[in-house]
Amino acid sequence: MNKHIVRRLAKLRTQLRRLKLDALVITNPTNVRYLSGFTGDSSAVLVTQSETVFVTDFRYVEQAGQECTGHRVVKRNGGTFKTLARQAKKLGAGRVGIEADVLSLDAAEQFRAALGKIEMVNTSGLVGRLREIKDRGEIAAIEACIRANEKCLEHIRPFLVPGIRELDISAEIEYFVRGLGFDGMAFPTIVAFGPRGSLPHAQPTKRRLRKGDPVLIDCGVTGDGYVSDLTRVFFHNKISERFERIYRIVLEAQRRAIRKIRPGVKAGVVGRAARGHITRAGFGPRFGHGLGHGLGMQVHEAPGVTAGSETALKRGMVFTVEPGIYIPGFGGVRIEDDVLVTPKGVKVLSDSPKDLKDIIIGG
Ligand code: ZN
Ligand code: ZN
Repeated sequence: MNKHIVRRLAKLRTQLRRLKLDALVITNPTNVRYLSGFTGDSSAVLVTQSETVFVTDFRYVEQAGQECTGHRVVKRNGGTFKTLARQAKKLGAGRVGIEADVLSLDAAEQFRAALGKIEMVNTSGLVGRLREIKDRGEIAAIEACIRANEKCLEHIRPFLVPGIRELDISAEIEYFVRGLGFDGMAFPTIVAFGPRGSLPHAQPTKRRLRKGDPVLIDCGVTGDGYVSDLTRVFFHNKISERFERIYRIVLEAQRRAIRKIRPGVKAGVVGRAARGHITRAGFGPRFGHGLGHGLGMQVHEAPGVTAGSETALKRGMVFTVEPGIYIPGFGGVRIEDDVLVTPKGVKVLSDSPKDLKDIIIGG
């Protein structure tokens, strides 16, 4: 068994003891991968103090045998939940945790019926909290995605010429990422020209780039089970005074937030550093989303970094820092980087140019 998975299972077992659970059933596919190394789907893991049982169907038995070394692979018989319940009974479990946040009501009812006298306990978020802290292998995988993400943003610059459509830009980015050998995009690429930049999640359209248009690109790369997430704004040819002012405010808000990051600090302190700066500049209501989100196997995971967050930052956490200002009918600016909490402070993992002189292109 991979040493990282051994360590994750040990941490999980400590939690099981604390919660007085005899077993935990993992059905969230990302958590299944995290605890087993399995890259397929339709499978579940049952963890007890002494056993790790991997339940899958005929299609995946061979693959699971190769990928989930150290797990006892069981082919499901009569449905996943009946199989899991049988295994739980066999192992003498009295209390079993489930990930209620990913189970349908139907699945939960089926499981409850199959468990009979065994108590079912909601343990949503248990594995998610373990996943907040990244190990070295995970950090390396995220960094590899970030390097590819930066190459993307560099590669796309010469394509930003008048007449090109938002759709062309997103297609070129996706083609380029595949060519780098990565699995693809971590989420649908956001490309917004001109006033469309005020839509924080603008989907690319047939709109064509005009001289002087700002270009907002938010894209993420996925590879080896991990992701990156970066946003940059470019200005074609020139930047208006109003946009320059907004850009400087957002950049400074991001800088102030990053400066606050270190272990022990509440995420809310980081969130408020950015929000305070934007509010004092008069744009508070134009920054309508949280400052950042955890990043790892998924694009949005714990911890959330918002002005109200009470979560204390810990070394090994990876999250985005992405303040923005959005003005309907005018446009928007968001600057997004990915950071790692280090033993003494912070490491900004992404390094795409973002000074004003670097983001004005063409001419
Ligand atoms: Zn993003
Ligand atoms: Zn993001």
